[in-house]
Amino acid sequence: MQLFDVAIVGGGPAGSSCGAFCAMGGLQSLVIDREKFPREKVCGDCLNPSCWPVLERLELADRVRDLAHSKLYSVEFVSIDGCGVTVDLPSGADCEISLKRSLLDDLLLRRARELGANVHEQTTVTGLSRNDHWNVETDSGDFFQARILIGADGRNSTVAHLCNLLPRPARERVALQAHIPLPRDFGNRIVLQFLREGYSGQAAVNETQLNLCLVGMPPTISKLRRWAERQFQLPPDQSWRTITPLTRSPVPSAHENLFFVGDAARVVEPFTGEGIYYALRSGELAANAAAKILCGDDRQLALRNFTHAYSGMYRGRLWINRLAREAVLRPKLGSLFVHAARIRPEIIKFLTAKIIEKL
Ligand SMILES: Cc1cc2nc3c(=O)[nH]c(=O)nc-3n(C[C@H](O)[C@H](O)[C@H](O)COP(=O)(O)OP(=O)(O)OC[C@H]3O[C@@H](n4cnc5c(N)ncnc54)[C@H](O)[C@@H]3O)c2cc1C
Repeated sequence: MQLFDVAIVGGGPAGSSCGAFCAMGGLQSLVIDREKFPREKVCGDCLNPSCWPVLERLELADRVRDLAHSKLYSVEFVSIDGCGVTVDLPSGADCEISLKRSLLDDLLLRRARELGANVHEQTTVTGLSRNDHWNVETDSGDFFQARILIGADGRNSTVAHLCNLLPRPARERVALQAHIPLPRDFGNRIVLQFLREGYSGQAAVNETQLNLCLVGMPPTISKLRRWAERQFQLPPDQSWRTITPLTRSPVPSAHENLFFVGDAARVVEPFTGEGIYYALRSGELAANAAAKILCGDDRQLALRNFTHAYSGMYRGRLWINRLAREAVLRPKLGSLFVHAARIRPEIIKFLTAKIIEKL
């Protein structure tokens, strides 16, 4: 049986980025995902400009721009009573764009494969054990061995669960998402709309479709769905993708021969649209650390450097995300903030600029 240097569970942005960077670094890497790609994923589909430098390093930036997408030139915050304040986003080649996750994630996974990663789709990891190496069991009966294991399997990480590291589920919100016909004259904007029962995010993903997300508590999510049906004239049998939890406590990202990246490690409030960036970048950082450990560098130093760079990725941004979480958990408070921003827009402009700042 082949012994891989690195086995990565999950082929979303975190896992594909990690697999691609491992392969670039000459490591024998394996990426396992339970889905067959291309597949959709509950997401606002917005690609924060911070992603571009990582995509450049993956030599993918132009290929991402070639995918069907929509450029986003502004974000409009709307209060419960319908008042709006608009903040401009940067224009140019590295502007914020939105594109379907089926397209982006498929391209990322293909890139990992092109660079030499072994990719197994439609394979669900079901068991883990450890002796000298990691032993990875799957539902297909395939069995893999690897020196280093990476959990890149999203917010409900099986790897974290099997390692007894997944935080206990709290009473959390649920998100619904659909691609619906693009309303006429919607424009190149993101709409973030506070609603009595939660919030909604909207952005065009191409010339004909709008990404529509709804976030609320399980007992009232049906009210949000009815609001969306009225607002966008949706049929009652509109199909929705769904996910929960929206946020949870983080899982420590670095352990001996085990890393967690992307949502598996930390899930941030989606309102600020940064998750894909954290996934891509943490995948890259874990690949660098794995390469150092496997080529015999000082393990403790490699882990310390990883931890430092990993927390640096969130530095100066996490507090804004926490602020956004406070606002969306209390939509009336969020709406007051929108009203205040209509009079004094500097603060909301500053916060938005920090969130899309390139690192
Ligand atoms: C409502 C909502 C809106 C959002 N909007 C945005 C946005 O606009 N912009 C943004 O940047 N971020 C947004 N996010 C966050 C973003 O979607 C995530 O941060 C991002 O998908 C994380 O990538 P990942 O690779 O860590 O995990 P995922 O994308 O979840 O990928 C995990 C992969 O692991 C696979 N997997 C899971 N379990 C197993 C298993 N046992 N065996 C094998 N494979 C497995 C899954 O099939 C999946 O492909 C949003 C999130 C939500 C909920």
